[in-house]
This record gives sequence, C-alpha cells and structure tokens, in this order.
Amino acid sequence: MISMTHVEKWYGAFKALSDINLSVRQGERIVLCGPSGSGKSTLIRCINHLEAYQKGRIHVGGILLTDASSTINSIRREVGMVFQQFNLFPHLTVMQNCMLAPMRSLGLGKAEAATTARKYLDRVRILEQAEKYPAQLSGGQQQRVAIARALCMRPRVMLFDEPTSALDPEMVKEVLDTMIGLAEDGMTMICVTHEMGFARQVADRVIFMASGSIVEEAPPAQFFSNPTHERTKKFLGDIL
Ligand code: ATP
Ligand code: MG
Repeated sequence: MISMTHVEKWYGAFKALSDINLSVRQGERIVLCGPSGSGKSTLIRCINHLEAYQKGRIHVGGILLTDASSTINSIRREVGMVFQQFNLFPHLTVMQNCMLAPMRSLGLGKAEAATTARKYLDRVRILEQAEKYPAQLSGGQQQRVAIARALCMRPRVMLFDEPTSALDPEMVKEVLDTMIGLAEDGMTMICVTHEMGFARQVADRVIFMASGSIVEEAPPAQFFSNPTHERTKKFLGDIL
C-alpha cells in the first residue's frame, strides 16, 4: 500500500530524513514514535506530499509520488490525514466541513455528499452535532469530526499526527476509541502517537525514529519488553 525506499528529506541544509525504508501492507497498523524533532511528522507529511522529498522513492497504492500535481492529487485522494490541531474550517458547520472535499475533489453531488457525511459523523458518534460550528465543540469532538471529514474522502490509508496530544486528558479516550474502531474495521493506518496503550492494543508494528532515521521496529510486545537499541531503551524509560 505504501512503500518508501531510501527516502531523504532536506530542509535547506538540514537533513530531516535519512535513508528511510518502510513498507506498509494493506490493513496494517503502524505506530510511529520517537523524540521531538526526530522526523515523525516529516515522514508522514512526505507520504501525501505536504512536504517534498529529495531522494529515494515513495509509492502509494502503486503510484510513484513525484512533484507532478496530477500524481499528488491522486495520492491525496487515497490518503486521509488527521493533525494535532484538528484544522477544521472554522467558518463552516460540521456538516459543511465533511461535505466540502468530496464535492470539490470527488465530484459528489450535494445530496450524496450529505449522505456520506452523515454516515461517517454517525460512525464517530457525533451526528447530533452536525449543524454546529467547530468552536462550539470540545476538542475531542472536533478531532472526531476531523476523522469523519477525512473518512468522507474514502481514503485507503489514514495518517494521524499526534491526534490526541492537544486534547485534555478526559477527551483522549474518545478519540483513541474512534481510532481503535477504524483499526478494527481494517483501515491501513500510520499513527504518530505516544499513547503506548494504543500502540500495544492496535499496532502491528511499532517504529521508533531518532535523528531522522528509523532506529528500530518490532511488534509491540517485543518493542516494549525487549527493545534492542540504547536510544529506544532511553526513550521508553523517559515516557513509560
Ligand atoms: P515532534 O515530536 O516535536 O512533533 P517530529 O518528530 O514530528 O517532532 P519533525 O517535525 O518531523 O519532528 O521535524 C524534524 C526536524 O526537521 C526537526 O529538527 C525540525 O526542526 C526540522 N523541521 C521541521 N519542519 C521544518 C521546516 N519547515 N523547516 C526547517 N526545518 C524543519
Ligand atoms: Mg511532529
């Protein structure tokens, strides 16, 4: 579904990703963790070309991701993204937030877009808030809307960049439960998160990054009980 081979990413003279090799099968759930500045956001942002990469290759659903806008657009249709800061359109209602991209990018008619929006808002259990504006919702509710909005594009992969780290503690669970539900439905997911309970419960593989490289990857049971690299041990010691 996703393959990255020998990917390098530079911000000017700073190398943010070095020799990233990663392949993600359909239905696989990956948790990506690592210290601040290690390149986690950069890595997942490269997958839908929110950042350009300079070396190597990224394929998504068999399409080679180049700088051509046609390939970028076709890949973005396959890849849903949820950010730490929700990024909902503040001037649109929940319903309008969910209908906009399917109408613009997939060419759905209004009625069909509304049906799709209701389906996914119901799935994240927030349909009753459909006519509200984002500012009228709690953080956890806004994040669930952001997940529904991404799902309305019927992506084949979902990327999450610390979706719970801006939330008050009591709202973290509702968002994690939504993500667990998606995983149970077989969605291919790459989640940047430090929610290690989520990683244990859901991940097929945990990938640990440091200084722009993948240092270690393993199934969660092995990753948590038997990390091999010093940097992984130190990281786990700091967060657990
Ligand atoms: P965090 O856990 O704090 O979110 P991260 O692992 O997601 O960190 P990135 O945001 O991917 O880290 O950043 C990786 C490195 O690239 C950092 O050193 C950061 O300062 C640098 N970086 C990120 N974005 C830019 C940019 N737009 N221009 C220059 N440097 C950048
Ligand atoms: Mg980040």
